[in-house]
Amino acid sequence: MVGKTIQNEIVLQGIGVSSGIAVAEVQLIAAQTQVVVERKIGPEEIPVEITRFEDALMATHEQIRAIQKQVAEMLGDEHASIFDAHVLVVDDRTFVEDVIRGIKLDQINVESVLSSVASRYADMLAQMQDSYLSERAADIRDVTRRILANLAGESLNQMSQIDRECIVAAHDLAPSDTAGINRQLVKGCVSDLGSATSHTAIMARALEIPAVVGLHNVTSSVSQGDTILIDGSKGLVFINPTEERLTDYAKRAEEQQLIISELDAQRDKPSETLDGYYMPISANVELLEELDSVANRGAKGIGLFRTEFLFLQNNELPDEEAQTEAYMAAAKSQYPAPVVIRTLDLGADKLPADFEVVAEANPFLGSRAIRLCLAHPKLFRTQLRAILRASVNDNIRVMYPMISCVLEVVEANALLEECKQELREQKIDFNENIEVGSMIEVPSAALIADLIAPHVTFFSLGTNDLIQYTMAVDRGNENVAHLYKPTHMAIVRLIDHVVKVSHKHGLWTSVCGQMAANPILVPLLIGLGVDELSLSPTQVPLIKDVIRHLHYADAVELAKNALSAQSAEHVAKSCRELIERIAPEALELFGQ
Ligand code: PEP
Ligand code: MG
Repeated sequence: MVGKTIQNEIVLQGIGVSSGIAVAEVQLIAAQTQVVVERKIGPEEIPVEITRFEDALMATHEQIRAIQKQVAEMLGDEHASIFDAHVLVVDDRTFVEDVIRGIKLDQINVESVLSSVASRYADMLAQMQDSYLSERAADIRDVTRRILANLAGESLNQMSQIDRECIVAAHDLAPSDTAGINRQLVKGCVSDLGSATSHTAIMARALEIPAVVGLHNVTSSVSQGDTILIDGSKGLVFINPTEERLTDYAKRAEEQQLIISELDAQRDKPSETLDGYYMPISANVELLEELDSVANRGAKGIGLFRTEFLFLQNNELPDEEAQTEAYMAAAKSQYPAPVVIRTLDLGADKLPADFEVVAEANPFLGSRAIRLCLAHPKLFRTQLRAILRASVNDNIRVMYPMISCVLEVVEANALLEECKQELREQKIDFNENIEVGSMIEVPSAALIADLIAPHVTFFSLGTNDLIQYTMAVDRGNENVAHLYKPTHMAIVRLIDHVVKVSHKHGLWTSVCGQMAANPILVPLLIGLGVDELSLSPTQVPLIKDVIRHLHYADAVELAKNALSAQSAEHVAKSCRELIERIAPEALELFGQ
């Protein structure tokens, strides 16, 4: 967006996606395109190229071991062992000798020889019948990318190599990049691309790191080593801030901290309106590390466990045992409060590096979530079995993402039933009456909620996607972010419709999209009759505070007026006026 310059300070306005104020030196994360150019070398350069290669191999070896150690500490030895195969590649003398021979014989630069030798090895392995050997092709490609990066003096896994406090600036951040962030060192994130409900934003909130995205030109406006200040609530970024700015923000940070402490002190109070209406608040969880923060922030149970992040975090598909363990941990951490495990919502922007998919022109409209799971029954069954096994803790529920027609629920339920039967035969315990829910995040599902209702026991409104698909506005595209309107009449009407249908069929409906974490919109959702709000743990004290300052009767009145309003702007204005009246402190923290 347009930048303003005051003295040397540059001010950029973007989209604040994770609140908080942070100041640190910037760490630029370069885009990862590796173009290998062939260069002829003279005989005198041969030893130089070989030394460059050996140095790069050594550096790569050390990096892999360091990543392995970090993964072992975070996720256990079992996950770390996948990197053994990478070390084997670096240490493989035949491979190394082949490259050295190529440099000597062909007299071309190491990058070029390495690329062709690695491609030859990888292609050969990929064709093997033995799945262990064919999978090694991916290891060779991965390690080669890393060696090439070292040859170029670039850092590949730049996130995990950060070794001092900084604010990360990147053109774009994939969810898997954000999942690898060291939150002790990374004080904030800014990016050229992205929007409020992009999965990177969700990740930043989960990690409690202030973040501003959709800045268009932040990476070209900063230089390595510049100081950068970010205001995650207002979506502002200051490059090389003035002394006055820093002083002003130090004061604001203190004030915000005070509000946060006050809200935190109240977090265990019931989420009940002034006139005694109770609104259950549960948490959205992406990482196992967040389990403790659910109760610590005053939420009860997990309304949305985005399981795909387990897959993205370690870039491989965990097996049934590993998944069962993760879901068990989630169930036990919340017991007896419910834990809704959402089946894999992979696809579109969320794909593990080693997951083979065919490129699609419109991935958000393509093989994503339930579609991808039904197309990969082995993958889906592994997860369903793990969820069922964890359901011996009877607080586990299962939920399908991105349902767009009844048949998908029917097919998913049939697979669930088959998995139950297998477990019965294997005499493995599970909860026979596990509750099954459907996300309502595609307009078609909202409109046929009555037809889906007989197959499930609850609905959860995924408003992030519901808005994207209803309004044809890419949730991750900053160019159309101004059109992404949660208060659009179509959205208000769809929510109203789903809630009414669910109640008619004896079901309950929660909201687990970002709307539930927005203090300005929460009274509207309550007035529309939703039965539960599920949101990032960090936002829970704030949302509970809003509810405790609200009269249920006002929320009902707000929703009634919204349903007969003329425009999104009218609805947004009434929502904002209400919050300004009852909980202005929420706006200081939330900003937008
Ligand atoms: C949603 O779409 O609102 C939702 C909660 O799912 P996700 O953000 O993971 O797509
Ligand atoms: Mg969704």
